[in-house]
Amino acid sequence: MKILVIEDERKVANFIKSGLEEERYSVEVANDGITGLEVAMNNQYDAILLDVMLPGKDGFTVLSELRAAGISTPILMLTARGTTEDRVQGLDLGADDYLPKPFSFQELAARLRSILRRLSPEKTTKLQCDDLVLDTVSHFAFRFGKEIELTTKEYALLEYLMRNKNKILSRSTITQHVWKHNFDPESNIIDVYIKRLRTKIENEDGSKPLIQSIRGVGYRMRDMPADDLIEVTG
Ligand code: CA
Repeated sequence: MKILVIEDERKVANFIKSGLEEERYSVEVANDGITGLEVAMNNQYDAILLDVMLPGKDGFTVLSELRAAGISTPILMLTARGTTEDRVQGLDLGADDYLPKPFSFQELAARLRSILRRLSPEKTTKLQCDDLVLDTVSHFAFRFGKEIELTTKEYALLEYLMRNKNKILSRSTITQHVWKHNFDPESNIIDVYIKRLRTKIENEDGSKPLIQSIRGVGYRMRDMPADDLIEVTG
């Protein structure tokens, strides 16, 4: 899941970023209201953590401009100003929750999980492919009843493959969605990550390969009948 943090205090922003990355979210940070608004308008996030006191544009202005533009991404407001008026103002403008500073990381993470769960009921929290299960809220992967440890990028790649299960995905599509940049087409970064993922999710004797290589094109994650194994090239 992708989270945008709009926070001008770099210490706080870094604390949130590193904590969330440890929980395998992918995190981007904007340090002022104008940049934050622009980034939020032009990219898709699963949630936004938005500070109130910001240079450029304050958090309430950013919030109301986002909602006016029809962007309904869940927003958790962060502020030192814990007064009732501020809280009400934020919620009236369309914030989903409100967290007064100082807060503990555990509390932030719990509030974030809660808005993600509450506001995305259509998004299933568990993705499954054969006997591999990925929990998109906790970011844990399980196979054969065992937890599989994933890095942030491995998680993002696996989530993307599982959300698009049974579809053939080209290398460039995967790059755009998971890495957000255009790599040199000669780069083998995706193949390197696919190899690492395979080692982690397919390392048990007798487990079915779940990620198919489609020669010259890309990859497909698949609940695979045994007959199709002939298509697997790598
Ligand atoms: Ca601030």
